Amino acid sequence: MRMFITGGAGFIGSNFVHYMLREHPEDQIINADSLTYAGNLENLRAVEQQPNYRFARVDITDREALRPLFEQGIDAVVNFAAESHVDRSILEPDVFVRTNILGTQTLLDLAKEYKVRKFVQVSTDEVYGTLGDTGLFSETTPLAANSPYSASKAGADLLVRAYHETFGLPVNITRCSNNYGPYQFPEKLIPLMIQNALADKQLPVYGDGLNVRDWLYVEDHCSAIDLVIRKGENGEVYNVGGNNERNNLQVVRTILQELGKPESLITYVTDRPGHDRRYAIDATKIRAELGWQPKYVYESGIVETIRWYLSNPEWMEQVKSGGYRDYYEKQYGER
Ligand code: NAD
Repeated sequence: MRMFITGGAGFIGSNFVHYMLREHPEDQIINADSLTYAGNLENLRAVEQQPNYRFARVDITDREALRPLFEQGIDAVVNFAAESHVDRSILEPDVFVRTNILGTQTLLDLAKEYKVRKFVQVSTDEVYGTLGDTGLFSETTPLAANSPYSASKAGADLLVRAYHETFGLPVNITRCSNNYGPYQFPEKLIPLMIQNALADKQLPVYGDGLNVRDWLYVEDHCSAIDLVIRKGENGEVYNVGGNNERNNLQVVRTILQELGKPESLITYVTDRPGHDRRYAIDATKIRAELGWQPKYVYESGIVETIRWYLSNPEWMEQVKSGGYRDYYEKQYGER
């Protein structure tokens, strides 16, 4: 199978490239990524010479630059490319609409024109909005996005659905909960807190720290997408999650404990506007229909993840330079 992956230099995309090259060495992978601040080819250093892997620097909104890649014949498209950080979407929503909506529509058009056999849209549980203290998101929960990020992802999901209903494009949408694992850009909760704790800097926690997320080890997300590509019924949405609800304070305390740092480093900062209180996924459908099973347990997965960041200080240093620093200072000030 020749696979066209977008956003493969980001956190989940790069883990997916590693996963696929290991699990399906017979497949070919084209990784198309424009290398925004979040795209990092260091994540792919170990595989860049493999004959069945190819990188192309291209923006998913640039139809004519994408066309020659599709002309080579593509079996499946997996669209990871996105602006992915909620805080940034509050500061500058435009680029979220451009990449997440227009970019997805451009890929859908090309997938239709070149008759790809599968188009998988990697979406998020955030399109469902927020939950109260109880309940779970199922695939039939109405979309109720609350941030410009989740609204742009919901817009893309509807376009993907429309290309199936209107043009018969063989699509699937996956909606996964929060991922953790190696190669995550340190603006996101877990690597941000690890990095600050290591430097004895304050750990900025939004609001009361009790917002709940349903954490899944990134490789379990990759195995779910792999199953959807091969076995997903066209037109269907699959929720992906591991039933690991933790509030932000619990996550931060685990990191501090593991690194032997004091809880006095925690500092509460003004809550994010429109901050969703709780996400939790019902993944019964993908488990029952496709036989998906997560392999990792949160308690050991989080410790493994912390250790990965500890044993890759050069990666952290390289990533901390440039755009990320500017953004961090704008968001939290110099702490
Ligand atoms: P990321 O920000 O780490 O990576 C995004 C990648 O997309 C980067 O490599 C970036 O260079 C690339 N990109 C951005 N704009 C582009 C453009 N216009 N053209 C080409 N490439 C572009 O994001 P991530 O956390 O790896 O998330 C990947 C996907 O998974 C996203 O679609 C996100 O919505 C979804 N998702 C993420 C999570 C999570 O917990 N991180 C959970 C569920 C779903």
